[in-house]
Amino acid sequence: MSEIILTGVRPTGPLHIGHLSGALQANVDIQNTGKYDKMYGMIADAQGLTDNFDNPAKIHDNVLQVALDMLAIGYDPTRTTMFLQSAVAELTELTFYYMNLVTVARLQRNPTVKTEISQKEKFNTGIPVGFMTYPISQAADITAFNANVIPVGNDQLPMIEQTVEIVHKFNSIYGQTLVTPRAIIPTSGVAARLPGTDGNAKMSKSLGNCIYLKDSSDEIAAKVKTMFTDPNHIRVEDPGNTTENPVFMYLSVFAKPEHFAAFMPEYANYTELATHYERGGLGDVKVKRFLNAVLQETLRPIRERREMFERDPGAVMEILKNGTIDARNVAADTVKRVKTAMKLNFFD
Ligand code: ATP
Ligand code: MG
Repeated sequence: MSEIILTGVRPTGPLHIGHLSGALQANVDIQNTGKYDKMYGMIADAQGLTDNFDNPAKIHDNVLQVALDMLAIGYDPTRTTMFLQSAVAELTELTFYYMNLVTVARLQRNPTVKTEISQKEKFNTGIPVGFMTYPISQAADITAFNANVIPVGNDQLPMIEQTVEIVHKFNSIYGQTLVTPRAIIPTSGVAARLPGTDGNAKMSKSLGNCIYLKDSSDEIAAKVKTMFTDPNHIRVEDPGNTTENPVFMYLSVFAKPEHFAAFMPEYANYTELATHYERGGLGDVKVKRFLNAVLQETLRPIRERREMFERDPGAVMEILKNGTIDARNVAADTVKRVKTAMKLNFFD
C-alpha cells in the first residue's frame, strides 16, 4: 500500500530542543528512510491563529523562523513538500463540509482540546469557535493530501481518532472517497515530553524555559549553567535524583556514545553516569559541563545550516511557495472528489 505522510508545526515561536526530540528529528528520520510515497511538512499558520488571533504579527514572523528551523534540522524540500496551511484555501473548504459530520458534544469531549482550553487563560471569558473546531480542520489537513500515516505525540492521538471518525462518516454517507489515516508514535518517554530548563514538566515557549535550535553557543552555555537540577543534591557526596532532574533527562535523550568517548571517557554510557550520580559523589558542575558539550555538538550543525538559509530568506519563502503550489493541486483534487460525492459538482 502506498504511504503518504503528513507532519505539521504551528508557527507560534522558534523551535526548541523539545520539538527536536519530540517530533522533528523523527520526522526527518522518516524522510531520510525514503520508504514512503510522499511526505508533507505543513506550517500550520491558520491553526496557530485559532489561539493567537489577537497577535497576527507573532504568527507572521514565526512562519519564516519555523521554516528556517525545519530546513536546519534536515527537512529536504526535494523530498518533502513544505507548505503553508493558510495558502491552501481548499483546507477551509473541506473543514466547512466536515463540520456537518461532527457534533458539538463530540468536540467538547476531545481530551486534547479540553486540556488545551483549561491551560489557556485567555479562554476564561469564552472559547472561540475556530479553536473549538480545530480538530475538524486537522481532519481536513490530513484528508486533503490523502495522508494515511501521521507521526504524532501521544497527546495528539485523540485528534487522529476524530479524523478517522470523520472519514468513516463521510465515506458511509457519501460513498468511499477519503483515505483513513493511522497515527504512528515515533518517540516515547522523556523525548516525547522534554522538561524545561526550570524543571517544569514541559519545555514550552510560553514558559520561557527553552533551549532554542537557533540559540548561540553562549546562550546554550548560560542556560545550561543555570539549569534546575536535584534541589536535594547539595553536597557532591549526597545521593542524587536523575529521573526528575532535567540535566539528566536531557542527557538521556541527547548524549550519544561518541559524546561519552570525547567528553566523559570515564563513563561508557548514560547508565553508568546516572548510577554514579544516584549513588553520590558526582557533582552537578561536572555533569552540566558534559551536558553543555553534548548540546553544543548536537546544535552546532543545526545552527550552521540555519545561518546558511538565513542569508537568503527569499529563497526560503520560494521553497514554501513552490511546496504550496504542489500541495494546493493535490488538495484541489480532493475537494473535487468530495464535492462530487456530496452532489455539489454543478459546474463540472
Ligand atoms: P503551542 O504552545 O503553540 O502549541 P508547541 O510548543 O506545543 O506550541 P506545536 O507546534 O504545537 O508546538 O508542537 C509541535 C510538536 O512538538 C508536537 O508534536 C508537540 O507534541 C512537540 N513538542 C512540543 N513541546 C515539546 C516538548 N517539550 N517535548 C517534546 N515534544 C514537544
Ligand atoms: Mg502545541
